[in-house]
Amino acid sequence: MDNSILQMASSILSEGSICDHCMGRIFANLSTDLSNDVRGAAIKLVLSMEADRMRQESGSTEWLEKLSASSKYARKVLGKGGYEDTCWVCGNLFNNIELWVERVIDALSAVEYNSFLISTKMTGLLSENEEILWSESGTRFAEPIKTELNREVGKIIEKRTGKKAQLRRPDVVVVIELENDKVRLDINSLFIYGRYRKLVRGIPQTRWACRICGGKGCEECGFTGKLYPESVEELVSERVIKAFNATGTVFHGAGREDVDALMLGNGRPFVLEVRGAKKRSSIDLSALQQEINAFASYKVEVSDLEYVDHSKVKQIKEMRTDKTYKLTVMLEENIPEERLKLCSNKLRGVITQQTPTRAIHHRADLIRKRSVRSIELESFDENVAVFIVTCESGLYVKELISGDGGRTTPSLGEALGIYAKVVGIDVINIKS
Ligand SMILES: [Zn+2]
Ligand SMILES: [Zn+2]
Repeated sequence: MDNSILQMASSILSEGSICDHCMGRIFANLSTDLSNDVRGAAIKLVLSMEADRMRQESGSTEWLEKLSASSKYARKVLGKGGYEDTCWVCGNLFNNIELWVERVIDALSAVEYNSFLISTKMTGLLSENEEILWSESGTRFAEPIKTELNREVGKIIEKRTGKKAQLRRPDVVVVIELENDKVRLDINSLFIYGRYRKLVRGIPQTRWACRICGGKGCEECGFTGKLYPESVEELVSERVIKAFNATGTVFHGAGREDVDALMLGNGRPFVLEVRGAKKRSSIDLSALQQEINAFASYKVEVSDLEYVDHSKVKQIKEMRTDKTYKLTVMLEENIPEERLKLCSNKLRGVITQQTPTRAIHHRADLIRKRSVRSIELESFDENVAVFIVTCESGLYVKELISGDGGRTTPSLGEALGIYAKVVGIDVINIKS
């Protein structure tokens, strides 16, 4: 046979019986608007015709015998009836496609989703057989078994559920585990954007593990595993996990304030990543917002909740916007108000800041330049001053006051020539 497709096809017949799907898949990238089994059956038909031609012209049935395990046409010529063997490549995997469809439908019935993707985890034997198939045939037009199975199951699921198969970030991935003979769901996270206000002090943004036990639970932390009993994350996510029937959340904040700082004004942007959500589309976020605020009453308040995609996490992590703080500052000694105003005015402009001593163990020791946009003395009584400071994102404001032993310059302490320290800090605005 001089035809190269037939040459490739016939060269694998010596390995044993092969099904229409596996035969067709060797040439999957030729005439692509056919399904593999149609393509495979056509090739087998032509091969059988060719073998029958040889029989009629030369009397040799050698090729018909070779073909008979795979081709019903060859068997018919030989008078062997319609029986076909098990495919040596896939073990007749594609005869079970309806079974897999049923399992997938059953698994999907436990979750809410709009888009899905079928993914197949191969067995070692199947991968090996596929490799042999490709090298024996010498094909350059094949597609992998799992691609065909994913597509064929996916097409039926689309038809039966009306939901869409989607390659990029589907709501749920259904994994067909051939080795374990079962299906598994991988539910993709969903993302909710919002802003939070923190109305009481002493609450960290996210859960902090106990320093003694590292989160396992010990006497020191009252067996909670936590350094603080609650966090903004926990106060927000409690209701979210319930509403979405989720397995957990990850809190992505646009920066964070100190544990003892309030977060006021229009709030700090965040994205809550909801993991393993079995409910998705039916949750009304404005009702959920009310529920969260009732649950976290007078401690944390959320607003502007909306569904976003995963790219928003990166976006808010990279957000660089000006922030306004209310700083309560304790001065070493009482000084004239005029002098305090004069000295604080010197802080407007570019500040040179070396990584603060308190942050040096978890940040690189670098010199950064950040601007103070404005600084206003709001009140002054004895040796306690309250300032409203607006500065560029990334400026450490505590050090703007103390000077951090000369690592931040200029600073209020340096300008006044006395010791100055922040004793209260609130974020009162984060630019939208
Ligand atoms: Zn097969
Ligand atoms: Zn502990």
